[in-house]
Amino acid sequence: MGKVYLVGGGPGDPDLLTIKAYKLLQSADVVLYDALINKDILNITKPDCLKMYVGKRDSRHTLPQEEINELLYKFAGVYDKIVRLKGGDPFVFGRGGEELMFLRERGVEVEVVPGITSAVAAPSSALIPITHREVASSFAVVTGHPNRGINWADFVKVDTLIILMGVKNRQKIAKELIDAGRDPDQPVAFIEKATTPYQREVFTTLRELSQNPPEVNTPAVMVVGEVVGLGNLVGALAEQSITLL
Ligand code: SAH
Repeated sequence: MGKVYLVGGGPGDPDLLTIKAYKLLQSADVVLYDALINKDILNITKPDCLKMYVGKRDSRHTLPQEEINELLYKFAGVYDKIVRLKGGDPFVFGRGGEELMFLRERGVEVEVVPGITSAVAAPSSALIPITHREVASSFAVVTGHPNRGINWADFVKVDTLIILMGVKNRQKIAKELIDAGRDPDQPVAFIEKATTPYQREVFTTLRELSQNPPEVNTPAVMVVGEVVGLGNLVGALAEQSITLL
């Protein structure tokens, strides 16, 4: 029986892979990867490595989760080192837990290799400090997927809200946060394709988002909170000092 590694591929930039993930990719016999994986990462593998795309984006599922589970199990009977490569961290909205349980129930050895999640990397790379003394002492990572039935009132007191998979639902999320008592003037940022050469930031406020939402491309991380304004301030100060120079 081979061993399955559930590996976090990081947020996008191949340089943000962990050394452990890098080494595993170099020696893997099989790699099953998702849509959010930067294809450059796959060049690390050895020439005879079997690379298989099993990705899913929104509702366009390439393989249902059950089939991915079965496939991993079958591969474990044939190969030594199976890498299941997922964007970000395998356990942050990555269904890694389901794969872990399925394989463990069948006696397959599994190791999890944490990755840098986009939930944290996206705001960081957009110069948004998700915690900041006297401004934000808590953050929550929440799914914005319309099917998850999030009660946004539960998150009103969290200083910084980091919302994944929220682009489609962005206007409704803003409305519900305002209705639940969040300040409509609170700044919001969307960070598209974070840590890649195509990274783009869209800044708005909860009010504007609830009335006239700006265009946002996927994948993007949505950040709500006063720390977003701080990021802008930092940017403005930097520009100012450049002009002063
Ligand atoms: N396990 C992943 C998250 C999977 S859910 C992780 O830890 O990052 C997919 C969501 O992640 C997307 O809808 C988007 O909100 C976010 N995402 C992943 N990679 C991203 C990137 N490079 N830039 C912006 N958002 C990203």
